[in-house]
Amino acid sequence: MNDKIPYKIYLSEDEMPKNWYNVRADMKEKPAPLLNPATKEPMTREELSQVFCEELVNQELDNDTRYIEIPKEIRDFYNMYRPSPLVRAYFLEKELQTPAKIYYKFEGNNTSGSHKLNSAIAQAYYAKKQGLKGVTTETGAGQWGTALSMATGYFGLDCKVFMVKCSYEQKPFRREVMRTYGAEVIPSPSMETNIGRQINKELPNSTGSLGCAISEAVEAAVTNEGYRYVLGSVLNQVLLHQSIIGQETKIALDKYGIKPDMIIGCAGGGSNLGGLIAPFMGEKLRGENDYEIIAVEPASCPSLTRGKYVYDFCDTGCICPLAKMYTLGSKFMPSANHAGGLRYHGMSTILSELYDKGLIKAVSVEQTKVFEAAKLFARVEGILPAPESSHAIRTTIDEALKCKENNEEKTIVFGLTGTGYFDLVAYQKFNDGEMSDYIPTDEDIQKTLAMCPKV
Ligand SMILES: *Cc1c(COP(=O)(O)O)cnc(C)c1O
Repeated sequence: MNDKIPYKIYLSEDEMPKNWYNVRADMKEKPAPLLNPATKEPMTREELSQVFCEELVNQELDNDTRYIEIPKEIRDFYNMYRPSPLVRAYFLEKELQTPAKIYYKFEGNNTSGSHKLNSAIAQAYYAKKQGLKGVTTETGAGQWGTALSMATGYFGLDCKVFMVKCSYEQKPFRREVMRTYGAEVIPSPSMETNIGRQINKELPNSTGSLGCAISEAVEAAVTNEGYRYVLGSVLNQVLLHQSIIGQETKIALDKYGIKPDMIIGCAGGGSNLGGLIAPFMGEKLRGENDYEIIAVEPASCPSLTRGKYVYDFCDTGCICPLAKMYTLGSKFMPSANHAGGLRYHGMSTILSELYDKGLIKAVSVEQTKVFEAAKLFARVEGILPAPESSHAIRTTIDEALKCKENNEEKTIVFGLTGTGYFDLVAYQKFNDGEMSDYIPTDEDIQKTLAMCPKV
């Protein structure tokens, strides 16, 4: 340990933020509104309230309030697993022999194994407060479903999770964690919804997709009295809740007078990255400070680096509102890569707008390179990272090696969003040398982009 920065910087409970920070308040160009797919008019509060909880609709539409108070009940729950540590990656620095100073914010210290619990508990709280019976959602890889099950279990709400059928069969352990917390887990396509029945009839052996599970979950919410639909990423409200990550990071760094040069995070729907960068982006937007910010996406699902900034559907069933975002087209089917949480065709409208204005950068990385980085990180820093998080590790290592070459002492902060205990099939493939990289062709992407709706 060469200087006075401890290996882990913890905050006390008193130092934890009492507000979420809404970066939209500091954006001159606001993210584009969600549109009604039938009328192409902005979704009204009333329309959104049929699908989502009222208070969450207010947060979704609020482009102006800079700080939104975190209710006491949510802060109490956060106390169970927050503040999360900010770790100085001394061992990684040593391994790489880099002059760069590397920090990571570790969000894997709860049973769901990821940052998703930060928003799940908020969404469950508002559903409870509204007097609802329960919520519905979809899950692919399973982290979101697990986080939501923990949150609804805590508040005594029903939780119906439509789980993509192939994951339901391949990840029985995730499924059992959800059931243990009290959720009902339904393989999708199911026989419980019109859309599910229709897909089962047309494609009897369908193993499902995230887009199909979303369509089922939305239908289940709007057709069952006392239920609403909740979503674990992409939406403005989710980025708002995840701002707890960035604010804790900033408080911890400020305690030691550290200013990062570079902030790196993986980006699927954009919620962890949006949350991690929020207060830093606020300073950047207000002209107080500058930071280099990098979104890292899989080469197999490169929405920022190869997609187009247009209005598109959020689901394959085309029943959800239209969002203006960097997208590969809602019919884009990413190859079966092992970072399930990053396989989304679009990107948060907030991050899309910031990227379009050149305020953040994006890179894409290949799967085998990601797992090389994951393995190195696990060995030297001790944490078994989630494949999603390992995208950020890859780019951090690449940047730290550039610093070594150029003899630059940059300070890099990256988001370590979760642990990889439920992804051991992926690690097995990698360890056996059976992992491949699939990169879509321009033609593949053009085909699905051409199907975006005309707005
Ligand atoms: C879901 C997930 C992600 C990606 O989602 P974002 O909304 O882009 O943050 C990243 N890491 C982990 C561990 C996840 O579970």
